[in-house]
Amino acid sequence: MRSFTYTRATTPSEAAAEVAGMPGAMFLAGGTNLLDLMKLEIETPTHLVDVQDLKLDRIEKTDDGGLRIGALVSNTALSADERVRRDYGVLTRAIQAGASGQLRNKATTAGNLLQRTRCPYFYDTNQPCNKRKPGSGCAAIGGYSRQLAVIGTSDACIATYPGDMGVAMRVLDATVETVNPQGRTRAIPIADFHRLPGDAPDRDNVLARGELITAVTLPRPIGGHHVYRKVRDRASYAFALVSVAAVIQKDGSGRVAFGGVAPKPWRIEAAEAAMPQGAKAVATQVFADAKPTHDSAFKVPLAMRTLASAISEAKAA
Ligand SMILES: Cc1cc2nc3c(=O)[nH]c(=O)nc-3n(C[C@H](O)[C@H](O)[C@H](O)COP(=O)(O)OP(=O)(O)OC[C@H]3O[C@@H](n4cnc5c(N)ncnc54)[C@H](O)[C@@H]3O)c2cc1C
Ligand code: SF4
Repeated sequence: MRSFTYTRATTPSEAAAEVAGMPGAMFLAGGTNLLDLMKLEIETPTHLVDVQDLKLDRIEKTDDGGLRIGALVSNTALSADERVRRDYGVLTRAIQAGASGQLRNKATTAGNLLQRTRCPYFYDTNQPCNKRKPGSGCAAIGGYSRQLAVIGTSDACIATYPGDMGVAMRVLDATVETVNPQGRTRAIPIADFHRLPGDAPDRDNVLARGELITAVTLPRPIGGHHVYRKVRDRASYAFALVSVAAVIQKDGSGRVAFGGVAPKPWRIEAAEAAMPQGAKAVATQVFADAKPTHDSAFKVPLAMRTLASAISEAKAA
């Protein structure tokens, strides 16, 4: 690991200004992703601004009947919150499908949204990777790509967004709240938060340098039956090959987002009109533009079957 300096910020705008003002500085939250990447010298910050004293660890009701989740709320606390379990069950289920109990105790809401890809070549510093080293090439294209994305990819990168929590937040229409180094705040719909790779796969999201996530808000509850299905190579402690977050109403209408298939939580709202016709009708539209590799082609029918399973679970409830 390269040497770095370390400070603990006490206010959000101080943290934002400190990262913006020092080239190579980064925020540190639970550290469960960033420290691993530093040990492998994939991330090489010169300075860490620890945000754990910022008092952003509360879950509060919003005026419109939704919830405001502080950026530092741990994955464990969020998934166990009584209001989340009751009204946003898909979020509890998605979080609990991820990582392990110990990791979820440390992992934060903001850090989880910002976790980096698990593409094996991103982790192998002997291989070209446009996300790790812009312009170096992409070893996954033409390489081993079974775990990688089937839609939303580019000629520069075919990596997936690996998280579970963000897929549930996408189906719930969450909003990411931030503050920038000048103290200005903004609210970013989660649909617009993660970026597709295009020709700049090193940029995973739309945050500006020094922009700090302060909270994620959920709109008022939408009812329905909440399902999170995660298909992976082993039953725990593994990232999704395909996951489905679904909220399905009694009349068969509903919302659905997919994980493990794209560079961001993948939801095509227009396809949801086909929910009453079943999984095949929805998946055909969601994956109409899919460009899987030979290795990852299995993900398209797997996503359809996983959605079918989620729909039948909801109907049986
Ligand atoms: C073995 C293992 C298995 C895992 N399995 C899963 C899984 O199955 N599903 C899943 O979803 N996840 C999984 N994870 C990932 C885990 O959920 C993430 O590591 C965790 O959520 C990151 O949160 P953190 O607070 O530790 O972030 P950190 O590691 O502290 O930070 C991550 C990134 O976010 C930035 N950051 C942190 N807070 C802020 C903020 N407030 N504003 C702006 N930037 C910020 C940091 O600078 C860094 O770039 C796994 C991790 C491990 C190590
Ligand atoms: S798919 Fe993306 S992350 Fe993986 S090697 Fe290619 S550029 Fe890097």
